[in-house]
Amino acid sequence: MLDSIPNSVESSEALAARASRVLAGGVNSNFRIAGADRFWRSGSGSRIVDVNGCEYVDYALGMGTAILGHSPRAVLERVADAQRDIQCPAGQQIAEIQLGERLTELVPSAELVRIGCTGSEMVQLALRLARAATGRSLIVKFQGHYHGWFDSIYSGTAGAPLTGHLRPAPPQSAGQLQGALSDLAVLPWNDLSILEPFLATHGDEVAGMIMEPVCCNTSVLAPREGYLEGVRLLCDRYGIVLIFDEVITGFRLGPAGAQGRFKVTPDLTVLGKALGAGFPIAALVGRERFMRLVADGSVMHGGTYNANAMAINAALAALDILCDPEQHVYAQLESTATLLADGLAQLSKQHGGTMSVQHVGPVINTAFSAPGPITDYRTYHASDLDRQQEFLRRLEEERVRVTSRGTWFVSTAHGRTDIELTLEATGRVLERLGSA
Ligand code: PMP
Repeated sequence: MLDSIPNSVESSEALAARASRVLAGGVNSNFRIAGADRFWRSGSGSRIVDVNGCEYVDYALGMGTAILGHSPRAVLERVADAQRDIQCPAGQQIAEIQLGERLTELVPSAELVRIGCTGSEMVQLALRLARAATGRSLIVKFQGHYHGWFDSIYSGTAGAPLTGHLRPAPPQSAGQLQGALSDLAVLPWNDLSILEPFLATHGDEVAGMIMEPVCCNTSVLAPREGYLEGVRLLCDRYGIVLIFDEVITGFRLGPAGAQGRFKVTPDLTVLGKALGAGFPIAALVGRERFMRLVADGSVMHGGTYNANAMAINAALAALDILCDPEQHVYAQLESTATLLADGLAQLSKQHGGTMSVQHVGPVINTAFSAPGPITDYRTYHASDLDRQQEFLRRLEEERVRVTSRGTWFVSTAHGRTDIELTLEATGRVLERLGSA
């Protein structure tokens, strides 16, 4: 059984009511609206504790950032030491050179680096660079891929199934400037037979092409064999800047991210989440011939909090652990995730096979897509999303916390006991769901 720590505060329900009086929607990110009645008070390793004192095995992990589990001691100690001396000098620190050096050693596409705070903003810099470098304006993105919530890119992550391409891309938020999307085209992903003819017609208009190299924001879809290589060749043929958004896959699929795993090197790479092990940091890294446009000041990039002492020291401490050859972190993450994914798939089989389990390294997704697996954004939308929500709600009652999209992140802190507890809980939930 999971522990219960005595509770001395208001209930979650009372807090939710109080929150909604002062915070818009009771939350500070719209992605949290579904869990607006949950309040978390502490996290340690694979566990997170709510204000009622209930402990959960956590696979939401700060949406993937807590790759070393919650409150990793080495990271906290390094941040505490650093922040005693300086927090935000708005000038250079030695630690940011060290971080730049680490990133250029580890990430194949990284010849030069810029540090920021969030994935959303670093995506914007990537788009600006692609346009400046090519003198073109069109950006290609893919259906079901998420690259942040800003006007110029927030499109094609929801809505009706897409078969051809959308241009201009439709806005997804009220108040979003349609003009900001006029130079964005949305295409289905993982299909060169759609991309090739599109580029044959529009290739010389395209400045940049951005994608998640593994589509973690839609059911953890792996690239088909040869797809990323084909994309790389097409971008070279048409002079398009290829941008991998590795905000989720960076430092999660390995020290070199998805580009290392699939051996396809983009021109620019956006990093975030796992890089900070729970602290707010993101980076844009890339080829010198593009990044030099920021270096020479012709492309503007700014930010008061960029490379603040807490963030860069957290990243340095995290990378020390993640890339320590003695610790075999990625082999461990891989085997824990495989144990979990195999167990979930086995349970699905025992309970009628309606739950699909998709898995690339330490990112897993469960969805209810019977009879087949989820192969693209269309099959994802055709899956039983209500059943998915019910499954996740009941799992949370069993004290297993998964993201609201059914994505399970595994950390180095998750062990055999966590997996056993999780599989027992999942079995009970599937049993009851089956008869619901
Ligand atoms: N890109 C991807 C692939 C993401 O998953 C996210 C966030 N989930 C972002 C960009 C945006 O990052 P942030 O929330 O740090 O702005």
